[in-house]
Amino acid sequence: MADQEAYSPLPPWQRTAYCGTLRATDAGREVALLGWVQTRRDHGGLIFIDLRDHAGLIQLVLNPETSAAAHDAGADARSEYFVAARGKVVLRSEGTVNQELPTGQIEVMVADFEIVNPSAPPPFPIGDGDTAAEDIRLKYRYLDLRRPAMQRNLRARHQALKAIRDFLDADGFVEVETPILWKSTPEGARDYLVPSRVNPGRFYALPQSPQLLKQLLMVAGFDRYYQIARCFRDEDLRANRQPEFSQIDLEMTCPRPDDVMAVAEGMVAAAYRRVHGIEIKPPFMKMPYAEALERFGIDRPDLRFGLELKNLTAAFAGTSFKVFADLLARGQSIYGINLPAAHPLSRRELDEMTETLRARHGLGLAWVKVGDGAWQGPSAKYLGEAERARAAEVAQLQTGDTLLMVAGEARRLRPVLADIRLSLGAKFGLARSGELKFLWVVDFPLFEYSEEDRRMMSVNHPFTAPHPEDLGALDSAPLSMRALAYDMVLNGEELGGGSIRIHSRELQLKVLEVLGFNREEALDRFGFLIEALTYGAPPHGGCAFGVDRLCMMLCGTDSLRDVLAFPKTGKAVDPMSGAPSEVDARQLKELAIKVTL
Ligand code: ASP
Repeated sequence: MADQEAYSPLPPWQRTAYCGTLRATDAGREVALLGWVQTRRDHGGLIFIDLRDHAGLIQLVLNPETSAAAHDAGADARSEYFVAARGKVVLRSEGTVNQELPTGQIEVMVADFEIVNPSAPPPFPIGDGDTAAEDIRLKYRYLDLRRPAMQRNLRARHQALKAIRDFLDADGFVEVETPILWKSTPEGARDYLVPSRVNPGRFYALPQSPQLLKQLLMVAGFDRYYQIARCFRDEDLRANRQPEFSQIDLEMTCPRPDDVMAVAEGMVAAAYRRVHGIEIKPPFMKMPYAEALERFGIDRPDLRFGLELKNLTAAFAGTSFKVFADLLARGQSIYGINLPAAHPLSRRELDEMTETLRARHGLGLAWVKVGDGAWQGPSAKYLGEAERARAAEVAQLQTGDTLLMVAGEARRLRPVLADIRLSLGAKFGLARSGELKFLWVVDFPLFEYSEEDRRMMSVNHPFTAPHPEDLGALDSAPLSMRALAYDMVLNGEELGGGSIRIHSRELQLKVLEVLGFNREEALDRFGFLIEALTYGAPPHGGCAFGVDRLCMMLCGTDSLRDVLAFPKTGKAVDPMSGAPSEVDARQLKELAIKVTL
C-alpha cells in the first residue's frame, strides 16, 4: 500500500447494485458499484471497463467529458484491480448492444471512479475456460474461485445443501453436531490421529463418519437425526478422493429399509429441484447386489446404456474350443459382451483390447463377429454349431454384432468386463448427457473374506444388521448372509448408502466375533455402544450421502475438486498454505512426540 494517508479500511461508497443484476429496466438509475476489473479497453478518448462481481459483468464507460477525474483514474486500472464506480445506467446505442451478455443492453456512464486496491498481474485469466494447470489453480485458489464456473459450483452446492436441510427439517429430522475429536470408528480406512497434550501418549481419532454417535443419538431418543458431517479417512488418494469430505448423515428409529430409502430419494429430489428445477420421480428401481454383479460386473452399474455382461458358461458347456474347455473344467466361467453392429471395433482396436487384457489382467479375449451365416474371428473356427447357437441366443446376437468373450474366475473377470463396458459406452457416446439413471443396489453380502488380510470383513460396517431371513447362517455360513444394506447409484456413481443396524447386544457381539473380535476385545473397543444397546435401544437405521459426489453430479463436473473451496491434491497437500507442514520442536515436546524420520 503506497500511501498511509489515503488508506481507508472502508470502501469509498456503499454498493447499491451488483454488476451482473442490472438490466435494461434499470436505465436512468444512479448506481454505486464495487468490483474487479475484468478488462479495460482504451478507445482513444473513451475507456471501457468490464466490471465483475459474483453476479456477472457490466460495462463501464469513462468519458473525460462526463468526468475528467474518473477518466484519469480509470486509465490506471488493470485486470483484477478492485475498484469503485458511480454513475448512471444508460441504454447502449443500437449497434453496440452485446447479445451474449445478460447486461448487454446497457452500460454505466461513470461520474466517480476510484481504485480501491490494485492487483498484481493474476497468474491466470479469471475467465470461464480452464486455462491454468491445476496446481497453479490450487496455489492461487482465491483467484481460481473468482472464476464464474467455480462461483456457480459452490453456489449450487450451497443451494443443494440448503434444499436438503429444508427437506429434512420438514420431515422431522434434527441437526445434531457430533465431535471431531473422538475415537476411531471402523469404516474400513486408516484414521487420522490427533495427539492429546493433556493425556500424553493418547490420541483422538478424527471421525471416519459419525456412525456410532448417530446410533447413540437413536438410543438417546432423538428419533430422527441428521448432520452435514465432516469425515476423515487416511486412504491412498485416488483421482476423486479427498482426505476429508462431507456427508449428509442421517439416522432414524424403527425404519424399514424402504423408509430410509424414501427419505434419501426425497432429499436428492429436493436438491435437483432447487438447483436445476427438474423433477426426479421416486421410487427408484432396486437391484440385488448379485444381479448387479452378474449383469454389469459392478455394484454401481451405469444404467444409461446396455452392453450388459452375458454369462456364457452354460452355453459353452462341452465346447470343442480347447482353451474354453480347460478353463471350464477348472470350474471357471465365460462372460461376454455383445457389441452391436452399429458400434463396431476395428481389427486393430480388438487386438489392442486383447493385448491390454493379457498384459494388465492376465486374461485372454476371444472375439467373434457374426457375418451372414458364418462367424468370423480368430476363435470362430473352434466353436461348434450347437454352442454357437446357444451363445447367440444368450447374447442375443444378430448379423454384424461382435461378441467379446473372456474366460476365468467370475470374481476376477466381471470387474474387468465392467471396465470394458464403461469404456465402450464412453467411446461410442452411449450415455445421453443430461440423462439421470438412479437405482438402489440392495441385498449386499454382510461379510466378505479378505484374502489380503486373511480374515472376515464387513462389506458395509460391523453395525449393519443381517437380513432376518439369513440369521440362521451366522454360525454355519456367514459368507452366504445378506445385509439389510442399500446403496443409491446414479449413472454409475455411488451417491450414498446405509443400512438397518443391529440393536441387540447379543447379535452385535456375535457379529463382532465373526469379524475376529472376541468378547473382551469387542467390549474394549465398542463397550460404550454395546452397553448402550442394553438400555432399551430402539431398532434403527439410516444412511450417509457424499455431498461432494452429489454436487459433482449436480454441477456436471468430473472432478471433486471443482465443488470444494479448498481441496487437497492427490498427495493430500494444500499447495496454497503448504499444509501439512513441520511443526516446532516445542510443540512436539509438549505432545511427548518424537519424529523418527
Ligand atoms: N456410516 C456409513 C458410511 O459412512 C453410512 C451409514 O451406514 O449410514 O459409509
